[in-house]
Amino acid sequence: MIGPHSCFAALPEEYLFTQTAAAIREEERRPGRHVCRLGVGDAAYPLGKTVVRAMREAAEEMGRADGFRGYPPEGGYLFLREALARFYSDRGIDMSPEDIFVGDGAKSDGADLLALTDAAEVLLQTPGYPVYADAAALYGRRVVLLPGAPENGFCPPPPEKEHPGALIVLVSPGNPCGTAYSRAALTAWVAYARSCGACLLFDSSYFAFVRPGGVHSIYEIPGARTCAVEVGSFSKFAGFTGLRLSYLVMPEGVRLGERPLRERWARRQACRFNGVSYITQRAGEAALTPAGQREWRHVLRYYQGNAALLRRTLSAQGVPFFGGEDSPYLFAACPAGMSSWDCFHALLSQAGVAVTPGAGFGRGGEGYVRLSALARVETVREAALRLSVFFASR
Ligand code: PLP
Repeated sequence: MIGPHSCFAALPEEYLFTQTAAAIREEERRPGRHVCRLGVGDAAYPLGKTVVRAMREAAEEMGRADGFRGYPPEGGYLFLREALARFYSDRGIDMSPEDIFVGDGAKSDGADLLALTDAAEVLLQTPGYPVYADAAALYGRRVVLLPGAPENGFCPPPPEKEHPGALIVLVSPGNPCGTAYSRAALTAWVAYARSCGACLLFDSSYFAFVRPGGVHSIYEIPGARTCAVEVGSFSKFAGFTGLRLSYLVMPEGVRLGERPLRERWARRQACRFNGVSYITQRAGEAALTPAGQREWRHVLRYYQGNAALLRRTLSAQGVPFFGGEDSPYLFAACPAGMSSWDCFHALLSQAGVAVTPGAGFGRGGEGYVRLSALARVETVREAALRLSVFFASR
């Protein structure tokens, strides 16, 4: 009989969102129960017309002898890599299509990158997106926790100790706390990574929520092109959670040993990945056109309106919270003496509002719950009423 690999055995028994989904489903089975779901950060607004038209045309093309395409290039079609490079240069960042790899999700891209280096240590924000901690466990890496706390706005600074050759994962704006690193703080991180020969993996999945003047890409920080890789996702800004499209940016200056990291990534993708469908890549290209951008920016404003309503609701009840300005997430303090899992269950059973317990995101998340504004406005309005009643009675 074979058993699980010892690294796999080191994983927590269940993935956080599998655990919460089971409790939410059970609550919804109660007669007459309607749960307002503010738990998972999934898109709730349909795709824009420009994206849908591009997919329809691409599907038609695939049905014609002169338009059919088989396996896509593992690194992505040039048309999408060029569109992404333009998207960067429109924001003042010089990027070439060779710097960009197309993937099927920031979750897999980000996690798989952990397997590529010989970094024995992985530095991770806590609380933080659980996928990176799970991936570090899966690949047998030692995790060094970077503690987020109210005092540092849940954006931990570089540690005093040097961690030579480590992989540092920074998610900004962060999940679950919803706060974004400042330019000064990221400048300190880039300096730290360069001084100890570490590599930064910057997860910018929520960049589009950052207010003007904030940092939208790590390459806005001088020196990042030699020490940082950026992973981006179409999921949150363009609503592609069901389509699956992401990109990894690896400038030539980021090296793994003597060779550019991107050469190794290309080799890895060649044997582990067969690319993203033509139809999805055309959809991504369409999302980056002026018309496509107008459509998703309209949706962003819709989610930002939801976040503002949740902020007002918590403020009115005197609930301390973080986030909701540069992010669709709010990290709200639980009523005194209540653990985050107790608060999750109480909100679910008493108020019919699904959130995510902060403790599920690691140490430092205890005492908080995460609320997501990626929901229909009707749901958020109803949830706001219920949250007001819940917190007023504490
Ligand atoms: N990175 C972060 C920080 C996330 O919060 C999420 C999803 O919630 C992802 C990556 C996953 O993105 P994708 O849908 O592209 O896999």
